[in-house]
Formats: sequence, C-alpha cells, structure tokens
Amino acid sequence: MSRPQLIIVEDEQSIAELLEFNLQNEGYACQSFVSGEDMFAYLEKEAFPPVTLFILDLMLPNMDGLEICERLRASQTYQYSLVMMLTARGTEQDKVKGLEIGADDYVTKPFGIREFLARVRALLRRHVKMLRQQAENQTSPLPEYTLQAPNNPPSPEDDKRKQIRAGDITLDDARHVVFKDKQELEMTHREYELLKFLMLHRGNAYSRDDLLNYVWGYDYSGETRTVDVHIRQLRRKIEDDSSKPELIQTVRGFGYRFKEED
Ligand code: CA
Repeated sequence: MSRPQLIIVEDEQSIAELLEFNLQNEGYACQSFVSGEDMFAYLEKEAFPPVTLFILDLMLPNMDGLEICERLRASQTYQYSLVMMLTARGTEQDKVKGLEIGADDYVTKPFGIREFLARVRALLRRHVKMLRQQAENQTSPLPEYTLQAPNNPPSPEDDKRKQIRAGDITLDDARHVVFKDKQELEMTHREYELLKFLMLHRGNAYSRDDLLNYVWGYDYSGETRTVDVHIRQLRRKIEDDSSKPELIQTVRGFGYRFKEED
C-alpha cells in the first residue's frame, strides 16, 4: 500500500518549499515543480507514477494552472486525480473557470498553512469516501492509495530523517522535542516551529515578515515584534550565552538566520 502522492506546481520557490515541507511533515509523499512542462516531463519519464493530488498554481509562466488541469483531465492516467488550484485574491472568474474545467478545490493566496493543510486533508478524505461508494456500487477495485489513511505512521527511517542537529542542539521532530546536549528543553509550540523552520533552512536569512508568514501563517495579522519576542525566548533556551547568540544570528536591518553548518 502506498501513501497518497502529491505534486505541487508553483513557480514561487519560497511558497513551493513551504508547502512541500509541511505536506511531507504530515506524512504525504510530495514533490514540487516550477513549471507544468517540468512536471509533465517527470510524469512521462517516470512512466506514469500514481498521483493522488495535484496542487497547481494558477499563474505560471508559459503553461498556466488551468492548462495543466485541462491536460490532466484529458489524460487517461490522471483524469480522476484530484486537482487543487492556488490563486491570487479576487479572481472570481478564474475560480469559476477552474471549477468548470474540473479543479476539485480552490485556495486563494495568501492563505494560512494550517488552512491549506486542512483543505488538503478534507479533499483527500472526501475523495476516498467517494471512491469507496463507487467501488461498492460498481464492484470496481479501489485504487491502492485509498486503502490507507493519509496520515500514515512514518517508518523508523522516516523518523531518523526527522532529526535535525546543529552543534549541541538536536531537534527530534518525530518526538517533537528539542535537546541541548542531552537535556530536554521546554518549548512552546510556536518556539518549536520557529526553531524547526530556521534549522531546516540553516544559513538562509529571513525577514521578520517572512518568518511571520512561514511560521505563523499567511493569515496571521500579528506584528513583527512577535518574532523578536520568540527569538529572544529561543536564544535563552538554546544558546550558551543568550547575550552573545551564536546559533540564531541577527541579520542587521533584515531579520534572522540560523548559523550555517560548520
Ligand atoms: Ca505564480
């Protein structure tokens, strides 16, 4: 039995990374592409891998999300796969058109990551239910992936992969705990998520606004000061000397980054 396979086509790399990271975190097998051309080349090269859900950005260079959706609906292999469209706010016409050519759901940017994940889960659940009913009525066999719930328990290898280390800090995402040396650190949920994001993207600098978007969600309307407060708490917990932070570095006039790998 296989996990639901998800594909993202999104030309904005930061969004693609954010979605991929969070979907993989939820236990989905997920891959992202920057264009429809790349994605179709992959589908052909890999001899039609099973794909449960396509997440398509509407605005893409060359082949846009609508055209990709149309091509999928016209194909033998993917005509019944799920399609979710991502689009900018206020394009009601596109939404109608997208649904007409067979998108199963529509998510408007900017969106919160939790809302997005909830929509994905709901879509997959609805789909499984529909396929089950169809199978009962027509005695046609169920596709393999429908036999397993979307949130599979990860394998031990998956769990190992979920450990991120930096110096004496270990973030064990399978167990949702952080250690400094062997000492477990008390963290709030948000501190944990912020640390995880920074550690996963070591060396990259992020503005406070970016961090609010990625860690708090696009729909969060808090102030950038919130980020500073959380960084201060985190430093107190993970740094040897929080007045001279080495792990979470301030990028002056911009934001923060986690120390590059040594
Ligand atoms: Ca785009």
